Amino acid sequence: MVLRLMLSVVLAAAAPLVPADPAPTAVFGAAAARYDVPRDLLLSVGYAQSRLDQTASGQVGAHGIMQLTDAATLPSAAALTGLPQRELRTGLAANVSGAAAVLRSYADAEGLSAVARSDVNRWFGAVARFSGAADPAVARLFADTVFAQLASGFAAGPFDVPGRPVAPDRGKLAAVPAWGSGDVGIMSADYGPAVWAPADPGNYTVSNRTTSYPVNYVVIHMTQGSYAGSISWFQNPASNVSAHYIFRSSDGAVTQAVREKDIAYHAGNWDYNTRSIGIEHEGFVDNPAWFTDAMYRASAALTRNLTTKYGIPRDRAHIIGHREVPGATHTDPGPNWNWTYYMQLVNGVTGTGSGTVDTASTNLNVRGGPGTGFAVVGTVADGAAVTVWCQAAGTTVTGTFGTSNVWNRIGTGRWVSDTYVRTGYNGFIPGVPRC
Ligand SMILES: [Zn+2]
Repeated sequence: MVLRLMLSVVLAAAAPLVPADPAPTAVFGAAAARYDVPRDLLLSVGYAQSRLDQTASGQVGAHGIMQLTDAATLPSAAALTGLPQRELRTGLAANVSGAAAVLRSYADAEGLSAVARSDVNRWFGAVARFSGAADPAVARLFADTVFAQLASGFAAGPFDVPGRPVAPDRGKLAAVPAWGSGDVGIMSADYGPAVWAPADPGNYTVSNRTTSYPVNYVVIHMTQGSYAGSISWFQNPASNVSAHYIFRSSDGAVTQAVREKDIAYHAGNWDYNTRSIGIEHEGFVDNPAWFTDAMYRASAALTRNLTTKYGIPRDRAHIIGHREVPGATHTDPGPNWNWTYYMQLVNGVTGTGSGTVDTASTNLNVRGGPGTGFAVVGTVADGAAVTVWCQAAGTTVTGTFGTSNVWNRIGTGRWVSDTYVRTGYNGFIPGVPRC
């Protein structure tokens, strides 16, 4: 850092300053314009891949905010842009440009005219191909996710894409049933809510565990990649990895890839693999945006089911993180995984509270954490109904209902002081977990 500062002083005296990195929003605008890809579509692909996190680095050979892959999109981007792969992996502008170039090449391959390219709905096939999934059902799952995000809108850091009506033209993928419906989404025999999408037979070992020897552990993972990407990775014979279950961040949907009686390759330790169920969660360890209440609750419901089925104690000696497996080289699920909250849910403290915001008139600030020191991330109107997912002690606030240090989490990364919420309880709500 010191050297860099000195250099910049020298350069400032002698030559024009090297331009600062353009703002991320400008990067997307420029790449969209250059390759004639709808900007919000490009953003939605990035949101599906990394939650628009520039620092995202996948475990599985995928890079940057757009998660360009060693297997396909990275070399294509290099060929199309002429940029070196190293820059495409690590430079924000290059990474986004590369993704835009690849998407455009896929649109060209489908014969999209300039007029067609201006209609976001015509990009479905190009987005599906961008997933790299060999299974058309998984490719459709990825593109459906991207279009669902466009419909609902999404926000991350400096990006705020409002929702809009979409009617994707799925082309030949219209014949492939949506994930969880029809022939390709039969429900799992082991766990009712899960879609069954088997891993490649080379990525797990067939066994007879439930009768021949016990299952003692549940191992918790983060995927370091998207939901569709992880399902696809387990189907890829080259990966040599798998897990029994994979959860989706946005809504807690779940897919099963390996039968519980079989041995999945997830813990990096054969002894633990033989005695555990591996559960993957969509997201990256370093970005709290992926750690949603919906995913915690859905995952905890499965773990509760597994602990009952196999007689596994509901404690941290038996429900462990990948990093706690002896010899682990991975750090997941990482410091953003809330074990206290998860274990309460596993142990049956699953209630939510409901309340009504009462400020006497003004909007109530929503903060990024349980205290007035956290940034304001939004507001809720006086009189609005809120769902309280969990509660924590934070800074002490005096409000409509007296003075209290109780804070309510009303969404992922969204907190309000309990002193402005009429819940029927003075303090913590019985049956609602602590965050
Ligand atoms: Zn892991």
